[in-house]
Amino acid sequence: MPSPIKGIHHITAVSGPPKENYDFYTKVLGLRFTKKTVNFDDPFTYHLYYGNYEATPGSSITFFPWQGVVQGSPNTGETTVTAYAVPKGSIEFWKGHLKKHEVEILSEESVFDDTRLLFKDVEGMKNELVESDGIDKVKPNPADRIDESAAIRGFYGATLSLNDTGRTAELLSEFGWKKSAETEDTLRYTIDTDNNLGTTVDLEQEPGLSGRFGRGSIHHIAFRVPDDETQLDWREKLQEMGFQPTPVQNRMYFRSIYFREPGGVLFEIATDIPGFTHDEPLESLGSELKLPPWHEKHRDEIERKLPDL
Ligand code: ZN
Repeated sequence: MPSPIKGIHHITAVSGPPKENYDFYTKVLGLRFTKKTVNFDDPFTYHLYYGNYEATPGSSITFFPWQGVVQGSPNTGETTVTAYAVPKGSIEFWKGHLKKHEVEILSEESVFDDTRLLFKDVEGMKNELVESDGIDKVKPNPADRIDESAAIRGFYGATLSLNDTGRTAELLSEFGWKKSAETEDTLRYTIDTDNNLGTTVDLEQEPGLSGRFGRGSIHHIAFRVPDDETQLDWREKLQEMGFQPTPVQNRMYFRSIYFREPGGVLFEIATDIPGFTHDEPLESLGSELKLPPWHEKHRDEIERKLPDL
C-alpha cells in the first residue's frame, strides 16, 4: 500500500475576467498572488495562483479565466465549496470585512462544532471561512486591512456534492483518510497534515443538482503526495483499483496525475516538490509572468494576447 495521501494540495476553478478575480482574492480575501502563469494546455489563457505567504501545499486556489465561458452553477459530481482556515475568534472580523466589500454572507453556522461563514466570490463560487486550530505556525500574507490575527492561512477543506457518497468514501479510506463525523447526508473525512491545512473533505449526498459547468465552477481538486515515487505508487494502485489515471504531467511547480473518482469529481494527485520557488524567489512570487520552457518561444505573442491584471 502506498503511503497515505496527505491533505489537499490545491483547488482549481474557472473564473470570469482576470482583473475581478485578482481583486477579489488579493484584496477581499487578502491572499498572496503567488504565481502568474498560463494554462499549459492553452497558453493564451492565464493560470492565476493565490495562497499563503509561502504558497505552501494546502493553500493554493488557482483559476483559469476562460474568455467567454458561460456562468456556471453547482452540479452533482463536483467540488462545490472551498473552505479556508482562519484563526479562532476571527469570524466577527470577517463578517465586518466582507460587508465592507459588499460581499453577501449566505449563512453563519456551526457544523460539526466548527464556526463557519458561507459567502460567494465574484463568480458565485461558494467559499467558507472556518475557525481552525493549529494553524498559528503558518505564515499568512501580510494583506492590507487584514490583521495577522484574522488572515487566511490556507485551506480548511472542501465539499464534494455527490449522488451517492459510498464509493468516494471508500476511495478516501484507501487514501488513508478517516471518517471523523457524519450527519444524515454528509460524511466528513479527515487526515493529519504537517501544517494542519487541507485536512477535511465533506462528502455531501446531494443528488439531482443539475447545474452547468462554467465561471464559478471548480474544475478539480488536487491531493498531496511528497514526491514522484509516491505519486507513481499511487498511479499503479489506482490502476489496480480500476481507475484510469493520466500519465504524469509536468506542471513546473508540481507533477500531476488526474483521474475521475467514482462520484464523477475530477481528482488530481500532485507532488509537494519542487514548489513555487522553482522559478522565482519567495520574496517576489507572482510578480512576473512565468512560462514553462516549452512556451518561452511564444512569449511575445502570449504577452500581447493576455489581458492586463
Ligand atoms: Zn491542478
